[in-house]
Formats: sequence, C-alpha cells, structure tokens
Amino acid sequence: MSARLHLMGVPIHDVTYEEVIAQVGRWLEEGGHHLIATVNPEFLMMARDDPSFRAILRGADLCVPDGIGVLLAARWKRRPLRERVAGSDLVPMLAAVGARRGWRFFFLGAAPGVAERAAAVLRRRHPGLQVVGCYAGSPAVEEEAAIVERIRVSEAQLLLVAYGAPRQERWLARNLARSGATVGMGVGGTFDFLAGVQRRAPRWIRRLGLEWFYRLLREPWRWRRQLALPRFAFLVLTGRDAPPEEVTR
Ligand code: UDP
Repeated sequence: MSARLHLMGVPIHDVTYEEVIAQVGRWLEEGGHHLIATVNPEFLMMARDDPSFRAILRGADLCVPDGIGVLLAARWKRRPLRERVAGSDLVPMLAAVGARRGWRFFFLGAAPGVAERAAAVLRRRHPGLQVVGCYAGSPAVEEEAAIVERIRVSEAQLLLVAYGAPRQERWLARNLARSGATVGMGVGGTFDFLAGVQRRAPRWIRRLGLEWFYRLLREPWRWRRQLALPRFAFLVLTGRDAPPEEVTR
C-alpha cells in the first residue's frame, strides 16, 4: 500500500476502518507477518528523535492515522486523509468481524487481569469471539522468549500488544515473526478502556478532535508527553517535518 504522505519521515496511509479490516482479513488468508502501527503526533515526535523507532514505523505494513493532529497536518500539506483510524475503535471492530470469521486473538500487556477483563467484555458483546490467550507480562527482554512461546502455543493469528509506544512496536518488531501470529498491532490504552480501568472521552469530545485534551485532564502526568503536540504543530506549520538527516540543504 502506498503512503498518502510522510510526516517526520514516517509514511501515513489513507485508509478507512473498513479498509483496514478487509486488509487484515486478506493477510490472515495469505499468512506472513504484518505490523500495523496506529500513528499519532506523539509517535511521530518519538520517531523524529529516534531513528530506530522511525525504522520500525517505516517497516510497518500499515501506518494508520490515529490522532486529530495527523489529520490536520495532512490537510495542511494538501494531502487530506479520509478518516481517523483510532486503535481503540479499531480493536472492537476487529473483534466484531473476527467473532464471525473465527479469527484467533492474543491480548498481551496492560496491568495484570486487565487484558482478561477486556476479552470478557468483547466476548459478551460478540459471542464466539476467540481470544486464545491473555497475558500481562512485561516488555523486558528477559521475558520475551517465554511470552513468545505462550503465543506460539496458543496459535493466535492477531497479536494485540498494550505496552505503550514505542515499547509495544519494538516488542512486535522483535517478536511478531517468531510468535507465529500473522498480524501484530500496538494498542496502547485500548484494554484499559475496554476493561473500564480508564474512561474513554465521550463521543462528542472525540468528534470535536479533543480526545487528547480529555486524556490530559484525566491523566495529568501526560503533560510532559503531550509537549510533543505543540512541537509537532510548529514543525509541520513551518515545513520542518522531515527527520533531521533528510533535510535537504
Ligand atoms: N503498559 C504495560 N507495561 C509497561 C508499560 C505500559 O503493560 O511496561 C501498559 C499500560 O498498563 C497500559 C498500556 O500499556 O495499559 C498503554 O499505555 P499508555 O496509556 O501509555 O498508551 P497510549 O494509549 O498512550 O499509547
């Protein structure tokens, strides 16, 4: 799939929820290993400052625009995107389709018990949904081999990882292929939302493009991370949104 535009050296794909789900279905039929990244301005600022994270996002099969900032930046660069594809909305949609089509999911990460609760909520909504494994674990390298083995034995096809960015994407870049899963995606706080540990912004706030602000109010410790937002806006508005070594002098 070709990127609609690049921001901070990261490709952004112009896809809708429906198209992502259809693509996942095709990948599950074909096999292989495919990484989906849900890219928001915080991801992009991390990628700008960190070439190894940038390389992972460049290598991802799909970088979906998760975050109003990415959509505004695309519009500013006259490369508008059709819709925001938020990981926390995509996961329940994948579960709905997956329940009908027999897809096998593994939920990795979040605090102990949270992934199990998220799975229970989704199973209640979509009877027949196969979540073949849930495990909190940790992104520590020493734990990796044991976690990979759990996933392999479960024969999961879709591996959703909640270790926060960039750890979840790094974890997937290292381990997706050997886990045997076909599709891997970092899902951030999605299990927390599904399990009711964190509250998602109400729909009207999301529609106004203010979900980031709602999260800042609920989790004020995010202010430091969210300093990425004004930096991101400044770089895009001044046309300095290429990663440092790609700036042509
Ligand atoms: N998390 C984890 N282990 C870690 C770091 C984070 O399980 O070492 C989990 C955390 O419990 C949360 C999820 O990662 O469920 C997402 O974290 P965050 O809210 O930072 O992600 P975001 O949604 O902002 O990408």
